[in-house]
Amino acid sequence: MTTVPLVDLAVQHAQIADEVEEGFAEVLAAGDFIGGKAVAAFEQEYAEFVGARHCVGVANGTDALEIALRAVGVGAGDEVVVPANTFIATAEAVVRAGARPVFADVDDDGLLLDPAAVEAVLTDRTRAVIPVDLYGQVAPFELLTSVGERGIAVVEDGAQSQGARRHEAGAGTFGAVAATSFYPGKNLGAYGDAGAVTTDDDGLAEAARLLGAHGSPAKYQHVSFGFNSRLDTLQAVVLRAKLRRLSRWNEERRAAAAVYDELLASVPGVRMPATLPGNEHVWHLYVVRVPNREAVLRTLQAEQIGAGVHYPVPVHLTPAMAPFGGRPGQFPVAERAAGEILSLPLFPGVTRWQQERVVEVLASAVGQG
Ligand SMILES: *Cc1c(COP(=O)(O)O)cnc(C)c1O
Repeated sequence: MTTVPLVDLAVQHAQIADEVEEGFAEVLAAGDFIGGKAVAAFEQEYAEFVGARHCVGVANGTDALEIALRAVGVGAGDEVVVPANTFIATAEAVVRAGARPVFADVDDDGLLLDPAAVEAVLTDRTRAVIPVDLYGQVAPFELLTSVGERGIAVVEDGAQSQGARRHEAGAGTFGAVAATSFYPGKNLGAYGDAGAVTTDDDGLAEAARLLGAHGSPAKYQHVSFGFNSRLDTLQAVVLRAKLRRLSRWNEERRAAAAVYDELLASVPGVRMPATLPGNEHVWHLYVVRVPNREAVLRTLQAEQIGAGVHYPVPVHLTPAMAPFGGRPGQFPVAERAAGEILSLPLFPGVTRWQQERVVEVLASAVGQG
């Protein structure tokens, strides 16, 4: 039987193994596990890649979001608007910053935060909005016009969009400040947890750096509230090696997405993912929609095909978010999509042959209704 994993990180590792081993050996010899040379080098390289003036490395993407929110002044009593369809971390970070997540529906094509839905939930307490670049394409930030006029901060969740562009601007440069995750399976993935905050604003960059370093600009000078959220030197070594290849790997993802587009065009019952005009998509996930999702998923799994669901429960309906008052029926687009979405295997190095097998099994499963 042909096995096709959802993600295969071994393909990427094979290309950087020597470089990583050499870099690790240097760190081990120097013993500078925290704040080593590779961290500052990566921060500079990633800022350049994104097109932002500053990059602050942190411990993971959830911390990056919390730090970005705290940096723009989000705290107790504030409301922060988040999409109903996202990974739960977007909303968790709001709660951790002491604020209240307010959910809004997504648009039916891109499944991205719907700017009109955002308008409808803004209040005098709204302090920030977090559009998420879900599945690898940048959200339509320019449509959040009244948010800017009202002095509400826009924070980009770019955990799934490293290397994506919208109207020529890079993911990680939208809003006042952006957060990203280098969780291993992300387009730019570390060998453990890691994340970053990017911004053009000197003050926000400084605030972010202080927050992740115990509020301390230099050892034992605790000038403000903070905590510990640092990017490990070893992870920075991996990230530097991968960043040099990210554009090529994203190109491979785009080519694989085009193969799915071609193969699925003739398969009835499968709704293919939409790319918003103006977007250069980096296909963190290739998400189709099928009516009989659970049955299709079971068939794919039985055939050793690693399909996934991102995400099976809209965030407002998770038990964890019950204190924030989500009700079934509140966000019909996100709720309907949650029962239909299916992420197909896609990663740099996936072969056409593997994709043909995925589509063959998918077509037969969908056909069985
Ligand atoms: C992965 C992810 C995060 C959280 O990142 P971690 O590094 O796992 O903490 C946040 N938001 C989105 C949309 C993600 O996909």
